[in-house]
Amino acid sequence: MNTHPIPLTDTQLAEALLNALEDHVLPLTRKGVAAGNKIFGAALLRKSDGSVVLAETNNETENPLWHGEVHLLKRYREVEGLPPPEDLIFLSTHEPCSMCLSAITWAGFDNFFDFFTHEDSRDSFAIPHDLKILKEVFTLDPGGYRRANAYWTARSVAEVILGADAAAQQRLRARVDAITAEYAALSDAYQQGKAENAIPLR
Ligand SMILES: [Zn+2]
Repeated sequence: MNTHPIPLTDTQLAEALLNALEDHVLPLTRKGVAAGNKIFGAALLRKSDGSVVLAETNNETENPLWHGEVHLLKRYREVEGLPPPEDLIFLSTHEPCSMCLSAITWAGFDNFFDFFTHEDSRDSFAIPHDLKILKEVFTLDPGGYRRANAYWTARSVAEVILGADAAAQQRLRARVDAITAEYAALSDAYQQGKAENAIPLR
């Protein structure tokens, strides 16, 4: 597949990804969690300048397929006038599950970036389903799928920050810590209320 490069430096890209999380995804996720949904969200950014064109959050209380990523892709097709996938960066708060990996692929994106890993989802957020499905359905151990393949290349936000200017590292890491702390609090809220919702895999 023809991939379209991202012209931003890693410093610019890290800033853009963190801006998207802080200013676009988290405000939606605070409301989503208050309504009984999981903490996972996603956003689309322009490759050209890192600006956010659309963000969404998990909406499994409406439909268990509305993971943050798939909910975003559904909305992406509903909103008119957005750039084509080859011009966009796909950001996922958490490493996408097998459904979302496929959805990102079928939707035509040549990249995605994730903030937390599958192991974080299992160990820090008590959501083991991503790794369990990969093992049960696909016989894959953690890390067993290809992060760089013919369709797309995946990078973690942590990897992008490692590539950023030395002068920016401390500031970027402080923002990562604050975002991580907020997700821990949102996760606690979700876990405390989850027995009352009707999501199949809670
Ligand atoms: Zn998913």
